Amino acid sequence: MNGWLRERYGDPCRECGFSWESPETASAHEIIARSPERFERVVSSRSGTEHIPRLKWSVAAYVAHVADNTRIWAERLATGALGGALRIATYDEALLGRARNYCDLSLTGCLWSLRRSVEDWESVWSLDPTAAVVLDHPEQGPLSSGAVASIVAHEVVHHAGDVEAILGGCAALPGQAADPLNWADPKAKIPPSAATSQ
Ligand SMILES: [Zn+2]
Repeated sequence: MNGWLRERYGDPCRECGFSWESPETASAHEIIARSPERFERVVSSRSGTEHIPRLKWSVAAYVAHVADNTRIWAERLATGALGGALRIATYDEALLGRARNYCDLSLTGCLWSLRRSVEDWESVWSLDPTAAVVLDHPEQGPLSSGAVASIVAHEVVHHAGDVEAILGGCAALPGQAADPLNWADPKAKIPPSAATSQ
């Protein structure tokens, strides 16, 4: 796994406990495959508009972000598998969230999108060369398909934790607000570009 993510989040992740060493790729796929049920269970009977001051997005917005992120990584792997460029064109998740108006989206549609994104993620692996694809991230360096699976799985675990924290009043994750690498903290000491580039 690349050192960039280890440095950014810690290993295991300081906020959600995700280990970059394990899960292995198969477990990462399982985390991603089960993400729709995971979020549906957590947000059951909620509106999606819930939020807390220390996290930048609402419940629905985090679901939308995980859906978008999963699909974008699937598209990147497909690009490599189909003979396109291996160099990743990164995006700014904060700008995408603003452009998509994440916080005003309906939770129902966000959950539907997450299911569709996971279908895209799973379908890309039916392209024969996908497992051998090594993408080139401008900040993170070479990323094997297994490393990409870990990145996508971490996003699921990390933001499911954010949603649980929002709905539970954030008591479940003590110390998070004091973490200088907490990218969701508006006072975070890392540059916005590094904090939001995916
Ligand atoms: Zn995490």
